[in-house]
Formats: sequence, structure tokens, C-alpha cells
Amino acid sequence: MTQSHSFAHAVITWAHDAGRHDLPWQQNRTRYRVWVSEIMLQQTQVATVIPYYERFMRDYPKVSDLAAASMDDVLAHWSGLGYYARGRNLHKAARLCVDEHNGDLPVTLDALMALPGIGRSTAGAILSLADNQSHPILDGNVKRVLARHYGVDGFPGKAQVLNTLWQLSEEQTPVNNARDYNQAMMDLGATLCTRSKPQCLICPINRTCVARQEGTPEKYPGKKPKKDLPVKTTHLLVLCDRARGVWLEQRPPSGIWGGLWSLPETTDAVADDHKQLTRTLQKYGLRCVSKNRKPVPPNKLNAFRHTFSHYHLDITVLEVAVEAAPRAVMDCQQGVWYNGGQWPGGMAAPMKKIEPLLIASLNNRFIGINEPITNLPEITP
Ligand code: SF4
Repeated sequence: MTQSHSFAHAVITWAHDAGRHDLPWQQNRTRYRVWVSEIMLQQTQVATVIPYYERFMRDYPKVSDLAAASMDDVLAHWSGLGYYARGRNLHKAARLCVDEHNGDLPVTLDALMALPGIGRSTAGAILSLADNQSHPILDGNVKRVLARHYGVDGFPGKAQVLNTLWQLSEEQTPVNNARDYNQAMMDLGATLCTRSKPQCLICPINRTCVARQEGTPEKYPGKKPKKDLPVKTTHLLVLCDRARGVWLEQRPPSGIWGGLWSLPETTDAVADDHKQLTRTLQKYGLRCVSKNRKPVPPNKLNAFRHTFSHYHLDITVLEVAVEAAPRAVMDCQQGVWYNGGQWPGGMAAPMKKIEPLLIASLNNRFIGINEPITNLPEITP
């Protein structure tokens, strides 16, 4: 038995007894079911994914069902899973499958990788797990196992390190049993060769593992070099109308929180500049409510930081008491007046922090505009 055969054999034999066999996406494995699970599992824990996966499969059992759904409906199914580009890409790719591949996922690596949101590892996982085609994979779990076992230094985000890991994955993937091998590698990474405290003593490949011999498995894979992220600032506006509620709008399909529902956002200096605030409100056909003949100033409800992979966004939440402006024409994104209850669609990430403030703001408008708000829920930045 060659070294790579013995590696694969040891991992597959271990998984036969100790691997995971009861996950929902391991039953009735079709390319579609594997695809949806692989996309949901990116950056998300198995336990979190299971209820989302089951709901998704119940409502969209076939590619054509997903393609026929509206983007709004798909994003509502994704709401809470995060990384919404994944949901948008699934939907786009499903429509392409219907238009160009007879309503199913294509059966070649290249055709799969041409679909939005499907990279080499996901394509390899779909074809190996569903159809037992021999393709290597390199998800986070497999990267960790290979980097440790072969002592591959460096951050896998670097091209050279990534190429080395792909080469190792290719060498180890068996021709005839890629399904069991790839599943076994994912299981090994998820259950034994975990990020912290790997269980080397009971690992099936511990005798040949470089990281174990060195005594420092956790140093692999190498960490991302730290760099300071730039900081941007913005406002989210709680436009509170005594009669109608709080204005919510659906964000444009591309850009951050694309297609999701949020408070209106503006980078204009609306907190201290009344003229600017007036101009901003005009887009919504609104104006500030006045009290004693003076416009009621905005009320700062909260400020917090939301961090993306490439920048920090410092968000200030401003409550503005508004009313319809006479003869004004609304010129803004699609929106609704919200009065509590069900959110109109997928929720933009920071709204989870802000939602309790909206309820307080909605309740408060019946007490009297710009009364001091008491008993606000505490929000951590
Ligand atoms: S011996 Fe330890 S570090 Fe090496 S692959 Fe197994 S669990 Fe991971």
C-alpha cells in the first residue's frame, strides 16, 4: 500500500465507525442537497445550519423550486444565517441551472465552478459526495488536517500555501472512493482535529502527523497576518411617524446587506445639520415634526461598531420624529411603514441589535414625540 493509499485507508476506516452518518444532508445525497448544505456550512456551525437546511429543503425540495422562488423569500429563509451573498448566489445559480442545465446541477467540475458562489472545493464536494467522482476538496476542516499532518507552514490565504495544500489534497484523494474519503476528512477535522485541543491520541493518522511530532498542532494552519482595518461611519435613521410607524426599506440588491430590510442609511451629516436632515427627509416625502414652532432635533438612540472582513463600520442610530411633508414626492428605495410584528423580509445584520430600539421608539410615539425614552434595552457595542 502506498503512503497516500494508507493515509486514505486509515481515515476512511476510522470514519466508518466514528464518523458522522446522520446529518440531514447525508441522507438522499443528490447534487442539489449537497450543494445547499455545503453553502450553508461555509463559516457556519453544523448545529446552526440543521434547522435552516431542513426548512430550506421542505420549502424548496428541487432546484426548480428554488429558482421559482422570489429573492425576498429566499433571503427570508436565510435570515439569521449571515453572509447573505451565499443565499443570493444560490438563488442566481438555481435559475441558471433551470435555464442552462435542464433544471439540475451540472455534472462537471468546470460547469459547476462557472455558477455563482461555487468554488473549486464546493464543486469537488458536490461531485464527490453526491456522485462519487474523484475530486479533491479543501474546506476549512480539510485544510487544517492536511496542514497539521504534513506540517505546512504559513497562512492558507497565501497563494503558495494554498497551492501546497491543494496538491496534497489531490495526491491523497483516492480514485475509487472519493465520497467516503472526502466525508471522512471533513469528519476528522470537525470532530478530532479541531481548531483547539485536537484529540491526537485517538487520531487514525497520528503516527505520521508532523504537527503531533512537533507537539504544537494548534500552530497549524498559520494565522492571518493582522492589519488595522479602516473605519467608516454612517447613520441609520429611525424615521418615526406618529400615525404610520417606522420606515423600513429594502436595500439595493448589491452592496452590503444587499436585498435585505433595514432602516434607511445615510452618511450625510444629519445629526447636527438641520438643513442636511431636511434634504435627506425630502427623499422620503417627510419633514421633521415641530414643537413650539421649532423642529424637534434628532434623538441619538445608540452607537455601535459593526465589523466586516475589510473595514469597521461605526453606526449611529438616530430617531427622528417625522410627518408627511405637504406636496412632497417620495424618491427612495422600496419600503414599508413598520409597526412591530413580522419583519418584511430578510433582516440586515445590525438590525438585530436595533430591533428592540424600534419597538421602544414605536411605543414612545404614543406617549409624546421626543419625550425622554426610559427603560431602553441595553445594547453592547
Ligand atoms: S494527530 Fe492530531 S494534529 Fe495530527 S491530524 Fe490527528 S488530530 Fe490532527
